[in-house]
Amino acid sequence: MAQTTSRQVVFPERGVIELATADVPEPAPDELVMRVRRVGICATDLHLLEGHIGDPFPLVPGHEFVGEVFAIGENAADARGLSVGDRIAVEMQLPCTECDRCREGRYNLCDRDDPAAGLPVGREYGVNIPRTAAPGLWGGYADHLQVPAEAIVHRLPESIPWDTAALVEPVAVSFRAVQRGRVAPGDTVAIIGPGPVGLLISAAARIQGASRVVMIGTRDNRLELARRFGSDDTVNSRRVDDVRQAVVEALGGLADVVIEIAGVPDAQSLAVTLARRGGRVVLAGACGWGADVTFGSDRDLLTREIDVLPSFLSAGGYEPSIAALAADDYPYADLVTHRFPLEQVEEAYDVVRTKRDDVIKAVLVLED
Ligand SMILES: [Zn+2]
Ligand SMILES: [Zn+2]
Repeated sequence: MAQTTSRQVVFPERGVIELATADVPEPAPDELVMRVRRVGICATDLHLLEGHIGDPFPLVPGHEFVGEVFAIGENAADARGLSVGDRIAVEMQLPCTECDRCREGRYNLCDRDDPAAGLPVGREYGVNIPRTAAPGLWGGYADHLQVPAEAIVHRLPESIPWDTAALVEPVAVSFRAVQRGRVAPGDTVAIIGPGPVGLLISAAARIQGASRVVMIGTRDNRLELARRFGSDDTVNSRRVDDVRQAVVEALGGLADVVIEIAGVPDAQSLAVTLARRGGRVVLAGACGWGADVTFGSDRDLLTREIDVLPSFLSAGGYEPSIAALAADDYPYADLVTHRFPLEQVEEAYDVVRTKRDDVIKAVLVLED
């Protein structure tokens, strides 16, 4: 293989964005290298840049990537049944596969690190694996991604266009949230936060059999969109005096399952008041490391035996995500409103940060 170089966006330190290149080594027998086609821009990436999520610098960001097999070692090809050119999604977390949490399937809680390889506890591509860990191809804002033996790789059907395929990770996050809430056929579901993942949770709840879904938010255009993603009703929390009462009216009672994805403490406090007695509340929004949340202990939780279920990352969500994107029963493609080449990452961030031009999801196009 001729020497290949990969363009990368690098956060060398907090608040700084650079374009760089890295050499792409030939994969070892158990490894493969992915050619990235799309990577989604996530609010998490902006928080990383601002230094809100630890000190992973220098970092190649990007955890919402899809692409093709660029090069593959002999053992990996046999074990995975893949060859060069196959369309794949690689899960954003690299499980150690050996710790107790990994072995029980909760690999999003993997608690093993690997100091020799420079891999931290809870290794997440584009989030906490520094570029200093060889070969430095650990983020999706790049032409190439290193895929070691422990990575979880899924085949992507040809029928899913690349732009839509870039949603595979956020859709997986939405399915994990719905699965944490044990949403079952006939359940009523209230969702707080019609951002991209909130909209996807609405669709995922319907796919899991929810009988009625209400979306709670503050922006009318997003609430309208929620109807196209399976919400039967919406509540603009700025317009009603009593959100709880509005939810009761929309669902015919309090919700069997409430899923919060707004990522603000007030929304989490509200969430536990919207569940029926014995109901489930999923807290899926990230509020920031310093945030504390207050609940009415006896009033809202104890005497009503509410199950509070945090949902973190996307473990177990990729299979239903790929199935949902392939079935295409909801207008997933409409969520990808903006496309930028890698070199325009700062422009892309500006659009996402200021929420201008009705942006919902922006993606970087590595190769069209
Ligand atoms: Zn994300
Ligand atoms: Zn582990």
